[in-house]
Amino acid sequence: MMRFTYPRSFLSLLLIGFSIVAAPLVFALFTNVMAFERLAAISEQAVHTAVRITQASRSLLGVVTSLERSARQYAVAGEATFLDAYRAHRASFLANVRQLGGMALSDTQRAEVTAIERQEASIEELIRKTGPTPELTRQLPREFASLAERGQLLVQLGDRGIDEGIEQLRTQAVQSRSTVFWLMIALIPTAIVLIASFTWLISRPVTQVSEAIRGLGEGQFAKPIRIEGPGDIVRLGAQLDWLRERLVTLEAQKTRFLQHISHELKTPLTALREGSDLLSSGVVGNLNAEQREIARILQENSIELRKLIEGLLNYSAVHAQASYLDAKIVQLRDVVRRTVNDRKLPIVAKGIRIELNCEHVTAYCDEEKIRVVLDNLLSNAIKYSPERGLISIKLYKERSDAVFEVLDEGPGIPPTEREKIFEAFYRGADMPVAAIKGSGLGLSIVKEYVELHKGRIEVLEGPGAHFRIRFPRKKSDTEEAAA
Ligand code: ADP
Repeated sequence: MMRFTYPRSFLSLLLIGFSIVAAPLVFALFTNVMAFERLAAISEQAVHTAVRITQASRSLLGVVTSLERSARQYAVAGEATFLDAYRAHRASFLANVRQLGGMALSDTQRAEVTAIERQEASIEELIRKTGPTPELTRQLPREFASLAERGQLLVQLGDRGIDEGIEQLRTQAVQSRSTVFWLMIALIPTAIVLIASFTWLISRPVTQVSEAIRGLGEGQFAKPIRIEGPGDIVRLGAQLDWLRERLVTLEAQKTRFLQHISHELKTPLTALREGSDLLSSGVVGNLNAEQREIARILQENSIELRKLIEGLLNYSAVHAQASYLDAKIVQLRDVVRRTVNDRKLPIVAKGIRIELNCEHVTAYCDEEKIRVVLDNLLSNAIKYSPERGLISIKLYKERSDAVFEVLDEGPGIPPTEREKIFEAFYRGADMPVAAIKGSGLGLSIVKEYVELHKGRIEVLEGPGAHFRIRFPRKKSDTEEAAA
């Protein structure tokens, strides 16, 4: 794609954009004005010429009349004064013909002028040869009549010239109207394309900023933020990237803090546990029933505390490796079977029945992470199920997705908590089973792993809890997710 160099500010981008969009329209307007200007000049010229030709033709006709009169007077009277008058009229006739010859005549007009010139020359010759005789008196009317006829024809040709000029004008006008029409037809799509391109150029950086902010909100810190656009928006992008780096640092600090705390807690806890073990075992002296009970509570709670701390450590480990997928083609049904098998003890202990409804589905995924996802859902289902409850696990294909569903007959998840349960360390509020122990981390890990596979998890309506997970089965989709 062509590289576009953005100007320094958003305002100049807008100004440049709209100037470019307006350019074709200004061009059209200019072309129009020019065309009409040309048309006006041409028409003025044409009509002007035609009128001058007609005027000259009419005056030639006038001269011919005077010429005839003096010629006939000379023929009848034979006086030298009439011959002089004839000569003078002839000079002005010739001047008139020359003037006409210098004008922009049409071919027929020019031929007619030449014929008139020739005819007059033959009359002149006749006068010169015949002299003032009755013979000349007899011949002159016919000769002059034919000359006048030609002059008349020239005037008519001039009039026709004017008509033709006007007709040409009309055609020109029609022609330039159609030029303008086609110009508009071409320009409107051009303007639309330009408007669309500029809208795209203007909206792209804004979209990039909003996507960057959403990415930060969703905790995607790996990819540096880079906004392409005018200078001020690019600086905004740089600030967002700075924010991203701050968040990365904070995230790392949080993980380190968690690891330190849990590690530091382990040592005193071990001492506590060993102490309570010693007490319970009676090695340091026999205890009475009450003391034994206290020792047992101490022991149980230190075990619970250790589990919590291990959960914490586990959580930071999960977080650390949640950024990549170790993917291959996996038989999902086998993963379900193995997960259920691994949880056999608590299932049997609670008398829970498991209903498996699994199709043969393969997917390109990280087997261990999918196992952890299923195991967390299953162990929650076991934890929150009543004694002898039913847990149902489904596996099927839907379009290009693999879908898991896990249902139990426990208390379910109230609608107000359906978003919160996926947050780390969130534990259901006032439930009758609030006494059930847990760390509030299981579902946050589930969500993290599912999203790493470009999938999503939903909580569905039900009497009990009903979770549904879907993620794309195809390699390309998952690879994109891993990138
Ligand atoms: P934990 O189970 O350790 O508390 P989780 O992240 O696994 O942490 O679950 C968060 C919360 O979601 C639980 O505290 C509980 O309120 C609710 N929850 C999860 N699974 C179920 C279930 N199967 N039935 C009822 N509530 C559930």
